[in-house]
Amino acid sequence: MTHRPNSVEARDIAFQLHSYADARRHEDVGPMVVEKGEGIYVEDLNGKRYIEGMAGLWSVAVGFGEKRLVDAAARQMEKLPYYHTFSYRTHGPSVDLAEKLISMAPVPMSKVYFTNSGSEANDTAIKLIWYRSNALGLPQRKKIISRARGYHGVTIASASLTGLPNNHRSFDLPIPQVLHTTSPHYRTMHRDGEDEAAFARRCAQDLEDLILQEGPETIAAFFAEPVMGAGGVIVPPEGYWDAVQPVLRKYDILFVADEVICGFGRTGEMFGTTKYGLQPDMITLSKALSSSYLPISALLINDKVYQPIADESHHIGVFGHGFTGSGHPVAAAVALENLKIIEERELVAHVKEVSPVFQTRLAQLSERPMVIETRGVGLIGAAEVYHPELSKTPGALGLKVNAAFLDQGLISRNMLDAMAFCPPLIITERQIHDMFDLAERGLDAVA
Ligand code: PLP
Repeated sequence: MTHRPNSVEARDIAFQLHSYADARRHEDVGPMVVEKGEGIYVEDLNGKRYIEGMAGLWSVAVGFGEKRLVDAAARQMEKLPYYHTFSYRTHGPSVDLAEKLISMAPVPMSKVYFTNSGSEANDTAIKLIWYRSNALGLPQRKKIISRARGYHGVTIASASLTGLPNNHRSFDLPIPQVLHTTSPHYRTMHRDGEDEAAFARRCAQDLEDLILQEGPETIAAFFAEPVMGAGGVIVPPEGYWDAVQPVLRKYDILFVADEVICGFGRTGEMFGTTKYGLQPDMITLSKALSSSYLPISALLINDKVYQPIADESHHIGVFGHGFTGSGHPVAAAVALENLKIIEERELVAHVKEVSPVFQTRLAQLSERPMVIETRGVGLIGAAEVYHPELSKTPGALGLKVNAAFLDQGLISRNMLDAMAFCPPLIITERQIHDMFDLAERGLDAVA
């Protein structure tokens, strides 16, 4: 495809390397330029409007064009555009946000550590876990278990936690300290005759077998998303968390809940931790924390994690970790205002109210010939598509369906052949119908 010289598209091809893109395809086809957004909609450079069915990257909870967030950023920019939180320095916005997060935490938490992305929060969690093991005089306790098809980010450590081939292949990952246990996706992973409950018990057994095989004294922590997102929206099978958590407790293994997608209402509860009765020792948060208006993430740790770290840093004199942008005042001010909006507009109650419509319309997609499975909870879901010819190359059909959705004016995201839906939390019932009407038309155009 040729683009006008000096157009945004042509200059994008000339100058940008994109995440999660085939660089040669980008050179051939070029990008879609998103120009502006309002509510659940975005508009491209040609003035075509789309329903942003992914809330950007699972993240713009309060929708686009929220003036209160713009004003909060402007106010803080003028007062103090930047300061850091290294070495006994602090500022109001980071303190206010830390206090707010501790008060909202779904299980008792002691401290908040700020980072700039979900990847950094998980990477930091690993470093804290290792630091803690050393502080406790247990240097052999360094291995971390996560799950096949989990998504935890892309830094060297968090990409290792991620259980997806694209994040490992060609990067020489995962690092040897990270091990993966069974993905909880019932349809693809269950054995003949195994119902959901039996499958969930086997997942817990597989986890215990891995712990015993490696030696329980070497396993420091287990990382998991309450509901898997980027691995294909995988909702845990019935009884899964009730079976898995006792295994962690039995071997005194720390549990890190990656709430980067689930946090702040996505599942119909404020946190996935509450939705599934989890008892994590650490929680990572990002995305809906600031509705992604600015990058910010947070790691919450309980006292069991904090106390040995505090003892060690006192002993050696300094806790040698931190990012220039940790707790950035403008990002923190925006996050605080965003959390205020989520609470004042009762967006979690709203998700509870509209999610039955969302889930019903999602499930109805399975009446379409290519849809072999739908799965979801709250305002997150996926429809898995299959075609005997196109599915010979994994992801080829997903790309085609994605393009058909775009033609209809709907932005989804194909995770191979699973089409994801994760709209802003402010979406109304009427707009949910509009979104799935477009999805149905898109599917029919490909079938
Ligand atoms: N954890 C989860 C559950 C995610 O979905 C993501 C991103 O999609 C991350 C971590 C990584 O976050 P980031 O892209 O901000 O590094």
